[in-house]
Amino acid sequence: MNVHIHAAPKLVGPAAAFVAAPKKLLIGGQWVPALSGKTTEVIDPSSARVVAHVAEADKADVDAAVKAARAAFEGPWSRMLPAERAKLMWKLADAIDAITDELATLNSLENGKPINDSRKGEVPFTAETFRYFAGWATKINGEQIPISAPGDWHCYTRREPVGVAAQIIPWNFPLSMLAWKIAPALAAGCTVVLKPAEQTPLGALRIGELFAEVGFPDGVVNVITGFGETAGAALSAHPDVDKIAFTGSTDVGKLIARAATGNLKKVSLELGGKSPTIVLPDADLDVAIAGAASAIFFNMGQCCTAGSRLFVHKKVYDRVVEGVAAGAAAMRIGAGLNPETEVGPLISREQFDKVTGFIEDGRRDGAEIVTGGESFGEDGFFVTPTVIAKTRPDMSVIREEIFGPVVCAIPFDTDDLDAIARDANDTAFGLAASLWTRDLGLAHKLAAKVKAGTIWINTHNFNDCALPFGGFKQSGWGRELGAQALDLYTQVKTVAIRLP
Ligand code: NAP
Ligand code: MG
Repeated sequence: MNVHIHAAPKLVGPAAAFVAAPKKLLIGGQWVPALSGKTTEVIDPSSARVVAHVAEADKADVDAAVKAARAAFEGPWSRMLPAERAKLMWKLADAIDAITDELATLNSLENGKPINDSRKGEVPFTAETFRYFAGWATKINGEQIPISAPGDWHCYTRREPVGVAAQIIPWNFPLSMLAWKIAPALAAGCTVVLKPAEQTPLGALRIGELFAEVGFPDGVVNVITGFGETAGAALSAHPDVDKIAFTGSTDVGKLIARAATGNLKKVSLELGGKSPTIVLPDADLDVAIAGAASAIFFNMGQCCTAGSRLFVHKKVYDRVVEGVAAGAAAMRIGAGLNPETEVGPLISREQFDKVTGFIEDGRRDGAEIVTGGESFGEDGFFVTPTVIAKTRPDMSVIREEIFGPVVCAIPFDTDDLDAIARDANDTAFGLAASLWTRDLGLAHKLAAKVKAGTIWINTHNFNDCALPFGGFKQSGWGRELGAQALDLYTQVKTVAIRLP
């Protein structure tokens, strides 16, 4: 049975001081209240208590932020040399590193994730993403192109920044999502209006302070806290925004794509998933069991790449499912700020209701709850790590993105790779998949057949700044990270010169 350690240590030090201070919007280098004067609550998901209030931006504030981003884009930012942009981005990364503990604390307070994951994982990855893209700022080249028209010609392309980028991010990785969005945009020479998720504004506001501290010109990065339906919708429809980048649900991604048609702004979308973890019979089972558990339980399953459908060959099915279930039952549940915690709360009452609703649907539809399936909703939004078996392909637990610590185990009894891939591909999504096997020939062949933007072999939820990330099918448009991310924030201009 899971050990429960709900209590969180009292917030002290710089994070406590930041939480207690008034929160405003970052527009044009100034901290300003929402024009309406409205504020919204930030809730600690481990206690369901309000811990802070932030400004609630709406359309008028969005207009001001876009104006500031436009002025910075046409002004100081476009005059800055690529190497100067790179230096500022490195300084920002160092400034993030310098307050690792504070950022980790804010992140685990508002998101609920284990503090060690924030401190050792997300905060360093955030800094590293700025460093990685700082390196690109000086390497965004056009090409000289030979042509076949008669006469003397010099033809070339320039890669120019798209302009003002609006970026809307979710709450599951509040800091690294910020970096995945802002860093390539700045490297490319764009300016930014960022809207963090309503549940997790604190980390973004704290990093917002760092941009001014390290010397970014006013208006290069603007941070607007508020709701998606108002501030987010105003950004997506804004006629003076040149590009919108979004991570979140597939439903909202579709709304954003529609809203963007007004001025045909460029759109990139990183959306949901229902990623398969596929364990082949020759896999190193200790590694595969630990990997399959972490694929779904890391970040309480609130990962777009969560391995939520666990396909296991019949020969090893019992052992793998027992192993994953035993691992699930042994995890320590508590407040993210408690260093002993392995499983924190879900982000919100809404997500708690959604996830527990899916578990109930599974039960009602006749699936077996192998372990977990318990919830504690009064004092924090906790759901125990859950393994479900005996599902059918039409059940909602199999079809829908649950976005919680819930995995469905599905046996298969074939060595035919096409048949295995067909089941794995039986979803509207295509974000990621992991394959567990010692046979690399087989792994490469299956990797080619599974329809997903990332295939992991003997690992899951692995990201590196240099590796492009994004979705097939309804998991999105475009690729973040890696050199491909620069394509999202640049456009190609062709220059054709007839030489006299
Ligand atoms: P969501 O609504 O898609 O939220 C993501 C971001 O979009 C937030 O900043 C949100 O603002 C904003 N937003 C919401 N409606 C908008 C609109 N009409 N126009 C522009 N922006 C808008 O996701 P959610 O409600 O937090 O979670 C719902 C489900 O989405 C989850 O259960 C999960 O399945 C999926 N999800 C996926 C990811 C991912 O990484 N792919 C991340 C989070 C959630 P607010 O903060 O005000 O809502
Ligand atoms: Mg929402």
